[in-house]
Amino acid sequence: MSDGPVVTRFAPSPTGYLHIGGARTALFNWLFARGRGGRFLLRIEDTDRARSTPEATAAILKGLTWLGLDWDGEAISQFERAPRHAEVARAMLDNGTAYKCFATQAEIEAFREAARAEGRSTLFQSPWRDADPATHPDAPYVIRLKAPREGATVIADKVQGDVKIGNDQLDDMVMLRSDGTPTYMLAVVVDDHDMGVTHVIRGDDHLNNAARQMQIYHAMGWPVPVWAHIPLIHGPDGKKLSKRHGALGVEEYQAMGYPAAAMRNYLARLGWSHGDDEVFDDAQAKEWFSLEGIGRSPARLDFKKLEN
Ligand code: GLU
Repeated sequence: MSDGPVVTRFAPSPTGYLHIGGARTALFNWLFARGRGGRFLLRIEDTDRARSTPEATAAILKGLTWLGLDWDGEAISQFERAPRHAEVARAMLDNGTAYKCFATQAEIEAFREAARAEGRSTLFQSPWRDADPATHPDAPYVIRLKAPREGATVIADKVQGDVKIGNDQLDDMVMLRSDGTPTYMLAVVVDDHDMGVTHVIRGDDHLNNAARQMQIYHAMGWPVPVWAHIPLIHGPDGKKLSKRHGALGVEEYQAMGYPAAAMRNYLARLGWSHGDDEVFDDAQAKEWFSLEGIGRSPARLDFKKLEN
């Protein structure tokens, strides 16, 4: 799916401040859309009620605003779209790509125990997958996707190349819980589809999710977006980024007095390059930015470069 106007999005979970990794993801999405006359949307993934806070949402919006990454339209709350997510799960029941599973937690555990003891895969295989609805009990159920068991799912990724995941590694994921709430995987796909997102540019910690998400797109007969999974940022020592590396929150740089333009330039160069060019203005960044220019290995944070 790449014809027509480009639509990208930034979809942070509001569980903390806007950190460098998130800011870079937002910037890449913004540059890609803005350089192509497209739209850049913002979705707050606040379905996890226990971890999401209004303060974190405010901090993320503030960070984006300071960076000058303007989004089109209102920020969308994923939580508020739960009824729509449930509607799609039910549409999958109707089109036969999903089923009601009445297995209890104890039954699932027993299945796993037995599989472990026999040296089989412990991925749960529900006995309800092909059950006749006439045999359904009047009991709580979850809605599971009827995932293909054979073959492989190939993620054609603009950064990582073709990534193949055997379908035998993916179970029939739950899409709607027994209390009627959607799972994260379903919510992301329904939202990206409804928002018309054409390109999903995000951290490569979501690469495996893409395989599962593709199964949902296929079940609904929806066009799959273009994927671009960016390698995470590492510290100067090559290790996973953590607080011991220094300032990681965008607001810390703002507080230190760094100009937003310098920060944008610095973030743009974390994992993306354009020849030997080190400093460029916004117009150049928008014109030059491409998914092909994103490197495959983790970018290293180098605070000295920001100070220059
Ligand atoms: N909410 C996810 C995160 O903050 C991003 C999901 C996505 O981009 O699809 O890591």
